[in-house]
Amino acid sequence: MLPVITLIGRPNVGKSTLFNRLTQTRDALVADFPGLTRDRQYGIGVVGPQPYVIVDTGGISLAETGVEALMQRQVQHAIEEADHLLFLTDARDGCTPGDLDIAQRLRRLDRPVTLVVNKSDTLDPVLATAEFHQLGLGEPVAISATHGRGVRDLLEWVFAGFPVAAGEPATDETESGIRVAVVGRPNAGKSTLINRILGDERVVTFDSPGTTRDSIFIPFQSRGRPYTLIDTAGMRRRARIDDTIEKFSVIKTLQAIDAAHVVILVLDAHQGIGEQDATLAGHIIERGRALVVAINKWDGLDPDQRAQVKTQFARKLAFLDFATMHQTSALHGSGVGLLLEEVDQAYANATRSLSTPELTRLLEAATQEHQPPLVRGRRIKLRYAHQGGRNPPIIVIHGNQTEAVPETYRRYLINRFRRELKLMGTPLRLEFKTGS
Ligand code: GDP
Ligand code: GDP
Repeated sequence: MLPVITLIGRPNVGKSTLFNRLTQTRDALVADFPGLTRDRQYGIGVVGPQPYVIVDTGGISLAETGVEALMQRQVQHAIEEADHLLFLTDARDGCTPGDLDIAQRLRRLDRPVTLVVNKSDTLDPVLATAEFHQLGLGEPVAISATHGRGVRDLLEWVFAGFPVAAGEPATDETESGIRVAVVGRPNAGKSTLINRILGDERVVTFDSPGTTRDSIFIPFQSRGRPYTLIDTAGMRRRARIDDTIEKFSVIKTLQAIDAAHVVILVLDAHQGIGEQDATLAGHIIERGRALVVAINKWDGLDPDQRAQVKTQFARKLAFLDFATMHQTSALHGSGVGLLLEEVDQAYANATRSLSTPELTRLLEAATQEHQPPLVRGRRIKLRYAHQGGRNPPIIVIHGNQTEAVPETYRRYLINRFRRELKLMGTPLRLEFKTGS
């Protein structure tokens, strides 16, 4: 599972600046569901080969009542979900009473904490950190989030403490079959869908969850084939869980996507497409996971509404053109049976072997029909192609001036390869190399 690094500290110490630096251009997932504050942000960072989830908790305040108290509860929840806490302080403010209070609470927790002194900018690190030793949280690390100074060292220090790197999931299915993650926003119908899928099938065994932050892995069989469902919805723990905050976890969702071979993204036809759905879909693509989309709650819509939903989905999810869209009613069961067949197909496509002669032939046909552009008076030449990876498929194209291939031409080639090779249900990546 992806490790989780969580930023905490008073407001204005530079948490979101550090968050933005670590996630760079990647979209942040903001938990803007009803019942969750907007303040918490989730993103994916990478250090070396190691991806990790980064969480910005907003600010810790000291109030014990009202909205502030609710936030405290959420920060508390975020802390419980963390593998490692980065406690940020501000070199320019020095060590404040607020820092002392937070430190006191942190010392009581059974969580690894690194004390970070931000805004150290041009200060001597030894001087910048001196007064923070009194917080009793070990050696403080001086960084500057705006300039990036010390940030890399900080991450390497944090990850040195993790016994095993999570890394990429195994490409191939094991005896426990294709791992399928069912994700989507709260109330989209994930639990109902999972119950439907499992209802008709034999559940082999069931492990009860260790902690609240673990997703549940449920092995089952369908049509004689093994699968493992990764349940992010916590359907087995329903009775105990009375609010969205505890039930829905962005972290679980990100980790489940990362651990899956194929993702089923459940969308709610009654609600339409939200910002969150698009961000989630973008994340699935970025992680290169095969994808099946279930447009759920298809029941109870009249023909006009159905047409509207279809138009809206096609427009807002145009970048998901490679995924098959399925209308389902988890409540009544219609369309659900087909989903697993689509999962098989998406997985088969994602892991298919593509031969060099076939890829090269398709590349030649594509460049003949539509030549690459001229760059500084010389035409870009694309000579041959071979497969560079599976799940997702990567096609490596060799030629001259390949660094100048424009985005439009890249898209043209991707669409062409996808169509000719019938690679539906999986992202497809192109890499260009100049020289042989
Ligand atoms: P947050 O409330 O903890 O998320 O803090 P922000 O990231 O919003 O930062 C608060 C202010 O501190 C902003 O004006 C930032 O530009 C500034 N800031 C953040 N990091 C640094 C830093 O390393 N050096 C300096 N000089 N300013 C910083
Ligand atoms: P989750 O939060 O994504 O796990 O969503 P649930 O499975 O708990 O479903 C949320 C609500 O939507 C429940 O009241 C379900 O009965 C309802 N629901 C789920 N699937 C469907 C569907 O296909 N059609 C309709 N009409 N309601 C559904």
